[in-house]
Amino acid sequence: LRFHELGLDDRLLKAIADLGWAKPTLIQEKAIPLAMEGKDLLARARTGSGKTAAYSIPIIQNLLQSKLTVSEQAVRVLILVPTKELGQQVQQMVRQLTTYCARDIRVADISGQVDVSAQRPILMEKPDIVVGTPSRVLCHMNQGTLCVRDTLQAMVIDEADLIFSFGFEEDLKNLLCQLPKIYQSFLMSATFNEEVQALKELVLHNPLILPC
Ligand code: AMP
Repeated sequence: LRFHELGLDDRLLKAIADLGWAKPTLIQEKAIPLAMEGKDLLARARTGSGKTAAYSIPIIQNLLQSKLTVSEQAVRVLILVPTKELGQQVQQMVRQLTTYCARDIRVADISGQVDVSAQRPILMEKPDIVVGTPSRVLCHMNQGTLCVRDTLQAMVIDEADLIFSFGFEEDLKNLLCQLPKIYQSFLMSATFNEEVQALKELVLHNPLILPC
């Protein structure tokens, strides 16, 4: 299977070509078509499997398909990560994939340990995709600088096992209460421990489980 057989927007295909990727990785091949249909996804995936693009590509594709007017601009995707290093990597991947649609799809990474107030102007611009740790995202929700109750289309919990081991469990649970009832979710984890299983019940509906 090749990327151009997946029914992706030309701007995405062009960015993928620039990255020099010959074909989708196994997880991408399975995940992209079903995620484009709106299915939830649970993936046992490590760094190196191409997991970031496996969720980023269908998320970008779905955003491009539901393009909003300027007045409707809102945060429509949350990507939760355990560390600022992963946050930076995810933002970079999304930036690369949106090279040719950067005006339509904007991403902001708030996972860094900078001052909360310094991040306010970034969020006021209503980026389509926000990347952050559960605690920082929750902090902005509580301060009223980030609200996705009426606008969230998709949420990713990346490296879910690490999110738990870094002590973000409480924040994650509080954050989930501030989301709408219906949204597409992606849960990525290298290991499936009890906590990840419990989270699965909380955020996923009939998920596609990878690798099959
Ligand atoms: P990840 O598992 O998301 O951390 O990705 C690991 C590395 O694989 C990153 O450097 C990506 O740029 C690269 N990568 C992702 N998808 C592909 C692909 N289809 N072909 C070749 N490299 C890829």
